[in-house]
Amino acid sequence: MNTQSSHNIIVSPIEHIDMELLNQIVGGLMTVFDFPVQIIHLVDNLEFAFDRQRRQYHSTAILEVLDREASSSALKVLGVTKHDLFIPILTHVYGEAQLGGRASIISLYRLREGISYRDNPKEYYSRVVKEAIHEIGHTFNLRHCDDPRCIMHYCRSIKDVDRKSTHLCRYCRTLLEDEIKRLMGGK
Ligand SMILES: [Zn+2]
Ligand SMILES: [Zn+2]
Repeated sequence: MNTQSSHNIIVSPIEHIDMELLNQIVGGLMTVFDFPVQIIHLVDNLEFAFDRQRRQYHSTAILEVLDREASSSALKVLGVTKHDLFIPILTHVYGEAQLGGRASIISLYRLREGISYRDNPKEYYSRVVKEAIHEIGHTFNLRHCDDPRCIMHYCRSIKDVDRKSTHLCRYCRTLLEDEIKRLMGGK
């Protein structure tokens, strides 16, 4: 039943997520992080994280469940949801991650802003892939970067997302390589 192998990054769709989109995420993560990426369902629904007053989902609660449900051998986990996410101090988030931990999540809810998915799926995919790389970057202990082109730059608006590249700047790339060495050397 459990086919999760070690040192994999797991992409975990929550409810139905378009397969082409998932493939784009897998490709983007493999390019930047150079680990095998598997698609595995870990969570059926997000009722446990729903906030009735805000009518949004509390991302921190979802991270805990993703971390708990993923095989202990999995290196990192990225949940993908269509629902709108929040943390208490912000109106919404595009995603959240455990800094230097295992679990992360992205929301597709606000990434279609201003574009028609049918007319321009590439632009939409690009936003999603950027968010996925950014959140997984945090799990590798990368913090926000001042370089507006760097994938680890903090995005306040969708314009900021469009402006940045899908790459890590040289500084963040070095930090990532050091962190991977540390993780791989640990066992
Ligand atoms: Zn961030
Ligand atoms: Zn950077």
